[in-house]
Amino acid sequence: MLSWDIVEHGKPLQKALRETPKPTGTEVLVRVTRAGVCHSDVHIWDGYFDWGGGKRFYVKDRGCVPPFTLGHEPLGFVEALGPRARGVRVGQKRLVYPWIGCGKCALCKAGKDNYCVSGTRYLGVNRSGAYATHLLIPHPRYLIDVAGIDDSFAATLACSALTAYSAINKLALGPKDWVAVLGCGGLGLAAVSILRARGVRNIVACDVDEAKLAAAKKLGAKHTLDTRVADAAQMLASLAGGSLASAIDFVGTPATASLGIAALRKGGRYVLCGLHGGELVQPLPPIAQRAIAIIGSFVGDLHELKAVVALAKRKKLRPAPIETRPADEVNRTLEELKAGRILGRVVLDFEHAAA
Ligand SMILES: [Zn+2]
Ligand SMILES: [Zn+2]
Repeated sequence: MLSWDIVEHGKPLQKALRETPKPTGTEVLVRVTRAGVCHSDVHIWDGYFDWGGGKRFYVKDRGCVPPFTLGHEPLGFVEALGPRARGVRVGQKRLVYPWIGCGKCALCKAGKDNYCVSGTRYLGVNRSGAYATHLLIPHPRYLIDVAGIDDSFAATLACSALTAYSAINKLALGPKDWVAVLGCGGLGLAAVSILRARGVRNIVACDVDEAKLAAAKKLGAKHTLDTRVADAAQMLASLAGGSLASAIDFVGTPATASLGIAALRKGGRYVLCGLHGGELVQPLPPIAQRAIAIIGSFVGDLHELKAVVALAKRKKLRPAPIETRPADEVNRTLEELKAGRILGRVVLDFEHAAA
């Protein structure tokens, strides 16, 4: 098998040829055809998350030690089964749920692996990921049929769309509620599409990039706001008629968090998904006085991924722009993503990768 590995954080990934693993027990070997490139990959590639105030969280402290294979949006074909793997057959095309937990605790048994506290095995985060021709999955229950969905779009459902869906799922948004989407990269654009699919039309898309705002508008955002304006919070609140019910932050900087929280109406909810970094300094009394909820949301659970896939199968989701590139363009893609130059999502093609 081939894999594209971090050998040193921040340095170009290197292609490696190694022995293809053999599945044992309930394991399934998947031959990867597509894998999306996510902004989290840039942080893991860098080797740390910025906690603000000069503090960093180093990914090596949670098991990401080079050589390490990134990638958590895998699509592929079942290539081999362990003797106890049931429910899938060799040759079937499957999307892989990457947020795998211990598989044994109550949360994992309830399909909420992303909340597992006793041993996460997140693909491309603390276990070998999808930037490879082959990937070993611990159990067939993490494989989802995506028949009828375009391959590259299907791959993006595993993180980009799932993360957006789970954040939206934490909000009880009605058809008349106003919601702000902060950041219109791959996740923000997926959120606009999912909100529309769920009947929410009053969407204000926020970004600092005109092309991204135009893409959000095309997917169905009612208003767009270039947040480089001086009074962005006021502008956002007034675009929502002074009644912004929710702000979903796919960036996660002190500026976007402050913006989202400030623009909310009383009783509003701010959901943080973005991992850009920094720390939030926020006066406490208004949080109570305005009855604001601050909610963290990290990826999503297995049921939510199945729900996202079902929406995509029913053609309810309008895909954000997706560009499929050869696997060997992974380094260029990470660089461009880091520089904010990617519109929508880049998905890498591992199907035609050669040594
Ligand atoms: Zn991701
Ligand atoms: Zn668990």
